[in-house]
Amino acid sequence: MLNVSVFVIDTRKRCCNSLPVLPSGGGSSRQNQQPLQQPAWIGGDVDGRFFNSLTPGWLRAHMGEHILLLGAPGAGKGTQSKRLAAEFDLEHVTTGDALRANKDMDLSHMDTEFDTPRAYMDAGELVPDAVVNEIVKTALEAADGYVLDGYPRNLDQAEYLSEITDLDAAIFLDVSEEELVDRLTGRRVCDDCGANYHVEFAPPEEAGVCDECGGELIQRDDDTEETVRERLRVYRENTEPVVEHYRARGELVEVDGEGTPDEVFAEIADVVDE
Ligand SMILES: [Zn+2]
Repeated sequence: MLNVSVFVIDTRKRCCNSLPVLPSGGGSSRQNQQPLQQPAWIGGDVDGRFFNSLTPGWLRAHMGEHILLLGAPGAGKGTQSKRLAAEFDLEHVTTGDALRANKDMDLSHMDTEFDTPRAYMDAGELVPDAVVNEIVKTALEAADGYVLDGYPRNLDQAEYLSEITDLDAAIFLDVSEEELVDRLTGRRVCDDCGANYHVEFAPPEEAGVCDECGGELIQRDDDTEETVRERLRVYRENTEPVVEHYRARGELVEVDGEGTPDEVFAEIADVVDE
């Protein structure tokens, strides 16, 4: 992550030509969230190098990577996204988190059934694609750099994403179907405290019993083989065109997702470092 500071000079006391004006909220560093207003800022310091014509576009291009992580359920997207976000000082953006953070976003300018995402959730209705798009856009605009995880889920969303942002990399975690089924059906959850286990990769000390609280470990309905195979089928149907979208644009980087989490992360970090 770049170390950025922006100098604000009161231009009303000086004579200057056509200074760039930072749009409110745009390009400001996370440490300095108060929006800059007139008078315009005219310079900045990025990793010790002084720039006297720092434009919002330049900042956006240099202030943080834009990474998309793609992969099937069970491929390790969540784990790897969190680690990537921590090590590269990026925002971890998921559709669920973005939705929770923007529940009260005003949708009255859109042709939607309800005026806020919260109203959809309260009514128990699926938030439509157009609203999800708007929410993801808001979340990405608020981030200096990001790891996007769980979006886009279909080709329409992928095309929308290409319109609103530039990606530095679209990384696909490649894991075979049999390995995914093993991973997903082995998951066990504590019925009392919600702690997660895996019969093969993260077993409890005593089979079927939670290490944390002694509660009973259960297999959720979502994790039975029949449900898992159906989830993977739906995933393939919707998301394979997304993978092809990035492959066709030359943005797709495939990473072998079957190694240990450390091995997979090392490969991903190499891609981001390049
Ligand atoms: Zn427990």
